[in-house]
Amino acid sequence: MRCIFGIVLFLAAFASNSVGADPPPDDGKLRIIVFGAHPDDAEYKTGGTAAKWAKLGHHVKLVSVTNGDIGHWQMAGGPLAKRRAAESAAVAKKLGVTSQVLDIHDGELVPSLENRRTITRLIREWKADIVISHRPWDYHPDHRYVGVLVQDAAFMVTVPFICPDTPHLTKNPVFLFSSDGFQKPYPFQPDIAVSVDDVFQQKLDAIHELTSQIYEGGASGSEEFVRRIPPASDDAGRRAYLKDLWIDRQSREATRGRAALAQWYGEERGKAVKYAETFEICEYGRRPSPDEIRKLFPFFD
Ligand SMILES: [Zn+2]
Repeated sequence: MRCIFGIVLFLAAFASNSVGADPPPDDGKLRIIVFGAHPDDAEYKTGGTAAKWAKLGHHVKLVSVTNGDIGHWQMAGGPLAKRRAAESAAVAKKLGVTSQVLDIHDGELVPSLENRRTITRLIREWKADIVISHRPWDYHPDHRYVGVLVQDAAFMVTVPFICPDTPHLTKNPVFLFSSDGFQKPYPFQPDIAVSVDDVFQQKLDAIHELTSQIYEGGASGSEEFVRRIPPASDDAGRRAYLKDLWIDRQSREATRGRAALAQWYGEERGKAVKYAETFEICEYGRRPSPDEIRKLFPFFD
């Protein structure tokens, strides 16, 4: 009897095509889902804005589409995937958001029908108002294909008879790209710029958890790289190293997004922003009006 019950439970689990964690409650708050290729990308690109949304009670989910299992110079496979999922979860906890790492091999993501369905289901399950991903032009094939997969889902999420096991969205989300520095076929356009000055330290405290990447260099690291970084015993030294890196990175993003900062915050306040995260509006989802952008990014006033 117990055995039959077990089989029924197994079959029930197998029949469900649910791919995500529990969706947030329908409480009228915003619902944001961010796709990065590896268990650090969504965190780096949107960690500050995610923390700001979370502080206001909005629901943010960071998804790594691959498990990051080749993202280190010294270790790989299952142990690295587990380590990186734990790092991603630790970041999410500090940002006040949810995270999920899909079990797809790092470096092997392809824009397959199966993966398009997975992304479609994840967006639907989260009932997303905003979907963020890489642009499909990027140095890393996994980044490019996350961009392609999310664009491929950008209309499908509203189509009832694809993945009919997961209720379709009646309102297409706004799709955004996270920032990058690539110039071809056209440079990233910062349409929306968010000041992360007020959460900069929180973002640093969160991404500090990405030890395998930040302090060991990930796939591009080496013994020599690690020798140049303060050791794990020097926590303050590591945090200072991280802060220097991110002051540079996030202030460059503010400089590049200065016109958008002025547009959204006003000339005076826009000029004063030190650190920013910026986003480009993708043509394929809902096209938001400036008023709607202010509702989706309730930080400007
Ligand atoms: Zn990546």
